[in-house]
Amino acid sequence: MFPVGFGFSVKSKIMKSILNKEKPVIIAGPCSAESQEQLVEVAKELSEQGVEILRAGIWKPRTRPGSFEGVGSIGLKWMQAAKLETGMKIATEVANVKHVYEALSAGVDLVWIGARTTSNPFAVQEIANALQGVNIPVLVKNPINPDVDLWVGAIERLKKAGIKEVGAIHRGVSYYGRGLYRNNPEWQMPIELKKRIPEILLINDPSHIAGKRSLLLTVAQKAMDLDFDGLMIEVHPKPQMALSDAEQQITPEELNELRRQLIIRSEIPTNHIVEDLDSLRGSINQLDHDILDLLSIRMDVARNIGSYKKQNKMTVLQQTRWNHLLDEMVEKGSDRKLSGNFIEKVYKCIHEESINQQIKVVNSAKNIDQIGVI
Ligand code: PEP
Ligand code: MN
Repeated sequence: MFPVGFGFSVKSKIMKSILNKEKPVIIAGPCSAESQEQLVEVAKELSEQGVEILRAGIWKPRTRPGSFEGVGSIGLKWMQAAKLETGMKIATEVANVKHVYEALSAGVDLVWIGARTTSNPFAVQEIANALQGVNIPVLVKNPINPDVDLWVGAIERLKKAGIKEVGAIHRGVSYYGRGLYRNNPEWQMPIELKKRIPEILLINDPSHIAGKRSLLLTVAQKAMDLDFDGLMIEVHPKPQMALSDAEQQITPEELNELRRQLIIRSEIPTNHIVEDLDSLRGSINQLDHDILDLLSIRMDVARNIGSYKKQNKMTVLQQTRWNHLLDEMVEKGSDRKLSGNFIEKVYKCIHEESINQQIKVVNSAKNIDQIGVI
């Protein structure tokens, strides 16, 4: 059981009771429990650097059969040994009712629901029923697809089952092909989650987003800059020997170094000169209004172009004109320190709306003269 006051729903309390110091909350440990020696060794080193929660996967949901699927129940005994040796709290993933019962009877202090399980409301409901009346924190990883509703739904199922301390772990989502990340972070997902459930404890899992050591700090830093409450990081005494996720695990010393390099910023200014920020925000507000006015004028013109096209039986999409416009904006944007990716997204969005507005005009039964011809 967690000590009294371990309240995930009240953030200031969590910071005090888990860390007794500032955020981020750190949950660290191997992807999978592999042996008692491995767990005790890593727990000792983590505990020495002040990490208070040890993670380890006991049952591993692997994408393909034949991969290492975890050591199973015996691993819980090894986690208990690590807990006894260091006083750390222990955390593992549960994916079904049997896992819940075994974890609870082994004195696991925190459980999380994995990404593949969150995607399945039946499975989440069964776990929630099994956890009914249990007084430990439960963290929910985002589903493997970019669906915030599924994530919120899983959190609601647990809350409805009476779990008071429900938090969320952001671990990115699957995508077709290969890219920079193992799982695309889709940062808008945790931002949207916070909008819907402002009080939720939000942990970032840079290990499963990055998929490789070299990207961990960048992802973790971004999470800190987005005001996440903590990090869950995979740490192994000998990462290259790990039975699962070897590429993304780091040693305890590397974790220490990563934590040293992380810059933790606060939502509140440290020097208390709020006027500077207020004046900058005033400028942003003015600019946002100007952008809205310009967009509205641009759409007026687009509608007029629509009626011209209707009159002249022209297609709404003029591919050559659009290609040229986009290239020009990307090029001009780069002179103004605006990334090509950003300008492309903005203009594709504007163009889509312009097309929709024109299609409405072109297909409207109204007399074109009433719309106003250019
Ligand atoms: C894990 O944390 O080891 C894990 C399997 O994560 P996910 O559910 O995010 O894939
Ligand atoms: Mn893993």
